[in-house]
Amino acid sequence: MAEFSDFRSDTVTRPTKNMRKAMAEAVVGDDVLGDDPTVNKLESMVAKIMGKEAALYVPSGTMANSITVKVWTNELDEVIVEAKSHIYNMESTHMTFIARVTPRPIHSDRGAMDPEEVERNIRMPSVYIPRTSLICIENTHNAWSGAVVPIENIRAIRKIADEHGIRLHIDGARIFNASHASGIPVKEYAALADSLMFCLSKGLSAPVGSVMVGPQDFIDYARRVRKVLGGGMRQVGILAAAGIVALEEMVDRLKEDHERAKQLAFAIAGLPGIALNPEYIQTNIIIFDFNHPRLSTPEFLSKLKEEGILALASTGPIRFVVHKDIGDKDIDRAISAFNKILA
Ligand SMILES: *Cc1c(COP(=O)(O)O)cnc(C)c1O
Repeated sequence: MAEFSDFRSDTVTRPTKNMRKAMAEAVVGDDVLGDDPTVNKLESMVAKIMGKEAALYVPSGTMANSITVKVWTNELDEVIVEAKSHIYNMESTHMTFIARVTPRPIHSDRGAMDPEEVERNIRMPSVYIPRTSLICIENTHNAWSGAVVPIENIRAIRKIADEHGIRLHIDGARIFNASHASGIPVKEYAALADSLMFCLSKGLSAPVGSVMVGPQDFIDYARRVRKVLGGGMRQVGILAAAGIVALEEMVDRLKEDHERAKQLAFAIAGLPGIALNPEYIQTNIIIFDFNHPRLSTPEFLSKLKEEGILALASTGPIRFVVHKDIGDKDIDRAISAFNKILA
């Protein structure tokens, strides 16, 4: 067991031995010129897995979402987003900065927006107001404790998008977690969206990178936007090689993370100060409000750290994220620490 059991995020996962080997041996070329065979292999692999025409490897999930909004919208447009979504809260407002469009946040039930409310928020054409051109759905929903958005909900929103000629984007940073928890292939989620992005750098444990998918003309233009944002990388097959290993070897093990997250959630749910319904934990993220008579959140986090447990509370509630580098021993250590500090 490491010095710290690091529950801060699944982005802390370090590359596996096989990834490092693949990186060392990767055949590379200048990807801006389209010459990197390893990047080309990753992109065609992802397009196939997602059942979309084309894919683009980008440095981060934030860049994937920024490019997507830029490509699907024009200035004076508006984008419907879920109120607690990453794209609205955690990406430093690239919508206004890069695409120069406005977000319109809508509340949800654990990440699932009411399709009727989505429809009510689509703007009627008018010289006074923006034009609604894109709807974004996040699945799994990070700030809703890794909730899986039900596919019927996505289907209903797709129908509304079609009726109004609006694009639908899925921020699927953790779409493989959603797929494992629901038993629905990622292809089925992707089929309901015009575009989808996911992160290789989270639970799938690659060191860097995200991939976006969509129709060929969307990806062609996205490639130009990536370049202008400074995201054109050269012999980046070195990194893409780890992404290929992530897809080949790291997808199926996500279910272990989900089991361990449930185990931890059920073990801590009854403790003083913790407001958590463990039945809500479907994937690898546990978020709970902390309200203790003697301990503030920062005090609690520093006591956890003394016991070797790292967690984050940057947005208020405390977050525990389970990933490849969290094993059974780390779960036991966390449960002991919670009991020692709170019971
Ligand atoms: C992490 C995350 C992103 C952004 O990915 P980065 O690679 O950190 O930029 C986007 N959406 C969701 C839901 C995320 O969890």
